[in-house]
Amino acid sequence: MRFSRSIIFVFIGIAIIGSLFLFWLYEGYDQRRSEIVSREQNDAQNQYSSTINSYRLLSQSLYDEVINSERVVNIISQADQSSSSKQAVLRDELYRQFLPVFNRLQNKNFKQLHFHLAGGVSFLRMQAPDKFGDQLMSIRPSLAEINRSGKYLEGFEEDKYFSGFHYLFPLFDQQKLVGSVETSVSFSTFSQQMSSIFPMTYQFLIKKNVIDDQVFADVSRFYYISELNRNYFYEKEQGEQNRVDNVLPEELTKINNALKNKISAKMAAGQIFTESLAIDKINYLVSFIPVKNIGGKQVVYLVSYHKDDTLYTLKADLIDRYIYTISVLLIILAFVYFISENQQKLLDAGERIQNITAAMGEGLMVIDNAGLITFFNKSASDLTGFSAKEVINKPYLHKIRFVGENDDKANDKFIKQVLDKKQLITTTRDLYLWRRHGDKFPIAASASPLKTKDGRVIGCIIVFRDITEEKAIDKTKTEFVSLASHQLKTPLSAVNWYTEMLMDQDVGPINDRQKSFLKEILDGNQRMVKLVNSLLNVSRIDMGTLSIVPEPVDLIAMTESMITELQFGIKSKNLKLIKRFDKGFPKINLDPSLMRIVIQNLLSNAVKYTREGGLIEVEIKKQDAKTAFMLVKDNGYGIPKNQQSSIFKKLFRADNVKSTKVEGTGLGLYVAKAVIEAFDGRIWFESEENLGSKFFITLPLAGVTKKEGTRGLEANT
Ligand code: ADP
Repeated sequence: MRFSRSIIFVFIGIAIIGSLFLFWLYEGYDQRRSEIVSREQNDAQNQYSSTINSYRLLSQSLYDEVINSERVVNIISQADQSSSSKQAVLRDELYRQFLPVFNRLQNKNFKQLHFHLAGGVSFLRMQAPDKFGDQLMSIRPSLAEINRSGKYLEGFEEDKYFSGFHYLFPLFDQQKLVGSVETSVSFSTFSQQMSSIFPMTYQFLIKKNVIDDQVFADVSRFYYISELNRNYFYEKEQGEQNRVDNVLPEELTKINNALKNKISAKMAAGQIFTESLAIDKINYLVSFIPVKNIGGKQVVYLVSYHKDDTLYTLKADLIDRYIYTISVLLIILAFVYFISENQQKLLDAGERIQNITAAMGEGLMVIDNAGLITFFNKSASDLTGFSAKEVINKPYLHKIRFVGENDDKANDKFIKQVLDKKQLITTTRDLYLWRRHGDKFPIAASASPLKTKDGRVIGCIIVFRDITEEKAIDKTKTEFVSLASHQLKTPLSAVNWYTEMLMDQDVGPINDRQKSFLKEILDGNQRMVKLVNSLLNVSRIDMGTLSIVPEPVDLIAMTESMITELQFGIKSKNLKLIKRFDKGFPKINLDPSLMRIVIQNLLSNAVKYTREGGLIEVEIKKQDAKTAFMLVKDNGYGIPKNQQSSIFKKLFRADNVKSTKVEGTGLGLYVAKAVIEAFDGRIWFESEENLGSKFFITLPLAGVTKKEGTRGLEANT
């Protein structure tokens, strides 16, 4: 397959624009995606912070209202200085004092209320009063920090007994730091709390090694290996069955299984990230937020599970747009391909036409409706001397001058006729064309309308050839025929005259047999006179010596008289004749002797070529304000389709009539056409073999102007 370079460029251009557009779509998608992802992550973080805040408020008021009292500070301050038995008494007192408070705190999901002495030793764990005395400073950076700064602090921290979120308050005895107290909330409490407020499910994952290293063995049973990542634990406490789950546990399991291979590297790198996935036709967003402990180490991941279609819809939308864009691109490419193919075909066809027309002996030119030349082949250039370049897209009138033989008036009526009447026209005679330099030369041209598929005429195709030589030969022939006919006329007249004398018995009696022979001689002689007259007429037409002497003619009266003359033939063949003549049809300025020849020819043809008992119709009317119309119609032999184009040619007779006994010369219609065209009229016919023929004539009602010539025509009756 051949592609022109421009088409390849168009293809590449479309591909580049298409790719850029797809890239632009993807950029838009990616930006929206990051927005959604960061919104999701921010939401999770905000929800986490607001939960921290709400527990801080509770812890703060507990500290302000209940813990930070003289009595408590005293107990802690004393305990620091006391022996272990004294400490036991003080611890017991503190425990009893805080038991009701602690019970209420537990209802609020606090998991721990823990008093420490200065120096980071555990003094009383309200939730496990028998676990105390352990030095926590080394494993609890928060205790080291509060002992150093004496300031409140909060955050996640692992602990031997309890890993979770701690709120730590200093205890001062007259500005001396004597110890500290902390309230703690477990991550499972946090996640429940958050899930009950926000439409997500949360899970805190704690690094397994942190728990393994630091937590008392008897509490590690609350920690379970995460399905997401085996290096992490999640926390589950007894009595947690009633937690609010926006995403159900069985869904969580499926999600975790689907994600586990994708996320471990990102978790190991401590990244914040969000994954989207669909399970059982439900779309989820799962965000992983790393959480640092008080010591600044990232040991926890907050994982939020959210049923959310936004990313899925965004992706589906992107895919839809991709499909749409690619389809449009493919359609455009197919369209371009289709056009290029057609263009190529047209170019090929154009090239072929160029080659063919360049090889033609005839000149070929095409004129559009506006009279501009759109095509001019090589022979047209050779004949006229104008190159195609000089004439293409220029009005033909500027260069191409069709004229007559004897004058230089424009003789291009045939072009207008083709454009108006949309019919093929073959010019017969008297058409000349001026060459670029020098002389004019005779041409024979045929012009046909250039039509679109739906029949609109968009121009005119003219094929023409130089007929100088033919014309010269014709002239010689015509002169010979003219001369011979003239020479024949005198002896034929003599034969006619003497035969009639003999038949009239002017020179003696003759018997019947002799009479019938003489009749044959007379008939034959008259046929010869007719032929000679026709030949003379034709030669006068061909030599251009025809004269036109116009006078007002009553066409109807003329036709009536011709019908009367043909009465014998009509009667003997028993033909029916219908006349339709317009009343008040005007007289027209025509040469009556020439017009008679035409009408006589059409009517006698109708009579000759119609079978016995046939029907002839003759109509004369005004076609419009300017045109006379005549129709001679018969239902006779008709003219075979394949011979119709030759009917107006000299000496032509169709095969279907040649085989009948009907006599003819094949010259009548040639003469009729020459006469009608000399009258600026038109003659044509429609015919179907065995059904009949219609011969039409139109003439300008304005009539014809006088034309000087040597002779008129011989009447053929
Ligand atoms: P001809 O002397 O042969 O009639 P014309 O020039 O008048 O010569 O006609 C030429 C030929 O056209 C005829 O020979 C005939 O084949 C055909 N033709 C003319 N008129 C008719 C018609 N009315 N019906 C059938 N054929 C016709």
